[in-house]
Amino acid sequence: MAYLGCHLSSSGGYGAMCRTAASIGADTFQFFTRNPRGGRAKAFDPQDAAVLAGELADGALGPVIAHAPYTINPCSKDPRVREFALETMADDLSKLDRIPGVYYNFHPGSHGGQGAEAGIGLIAETLRQLLPPGGRTVVLLETMAGKGSEVGGSFEELRAILDAADRPDRLGVCLDTCHVHDGGYDIANDLDGVLEEFDRVIGLQNLRAIHLNDSKNERGARKDRHAVIGGGKIGLKALAAVVRHPALRQLPMVLETPNELPGYAAEIQLLRREEANA
Ligand code: FE
Ligand code: FE
Ligand code: ZN
Repeated sequence: MAYLGCHLSSSGGYGAMCRTAASIGADTFQFFTRNPRGGRAKAFDPQDAAVLAGELADGALGPVIAHAPYTINPCSKDPRVREFALETMADDLSKLDRIPGVYYNFHPGSHGGQGAEAGIGLIAETLRQLLPPGGRTVVLLETMAGKGSEVGGSFEELRAILDAADRPDRLGVCLDTCHVHDGGYDIANDLDGVLEEFDRVIGLQNLRAIHLNDSKNERGARKDRHAVIGGGKIGLKALAAVVRHPALRQLPMVLETPNELPGYAAEIQLLRREEANA
């Protein structure tokens, strides 16, 4: 069984997210570590974090995903922007390291005209500085749609970052179904082929989480616009196949679809029915 959940607001804290997840039938969730458009993080509340740590430890929840803000860019041309990304990520990790079982997902960044190779080198350098020995949180690179100068729009680019960063114990990949579709991979019709390619290039053992989204755009559009499950160009059938896939079982799958909580609850229910009807 896959763990299914959705993106939740973190404004009420960890305990509140655990209660919300339970109320919508979710056994995982995702949250932003701070305002996605930047800004200061809340102080760490050990008592509140203990609620989440307890649910992770007793198996009530599968792995949960903390998402870095969108505004950081670890491969900016501007060294101050890179420094800010490193500081933000290090601060996030210092807190997440206190809650075993939480992944830290981030967008690799935009190279801003320097070229993918330079971007890959800068991202890897940021990760090497971010992950000194001693921490434990596994950091996930998200597969991107390849919009503009985004790095991570192909499996090869993610592989190159992983190789250059050289911290296999601390790094993994989160596959976003909307992004890979928009990036040109045919998960709508050939999930097995895409997973084989992922395995060949990156290695399925490095796949730690899924963002489960439909896409408003045609395959290869490089746009990144999420649609509700079954309301886009990927379609319910293909997304149900992701949930059911034997190689993806045990992974947390998080919806980032345009929904409020009742919509998320309905999508989780729908996908669990599809999973049972294998
Ligand atoms: Fe993301
Ligand atoms: Fe995503
Ligand atoms: Zn997206």
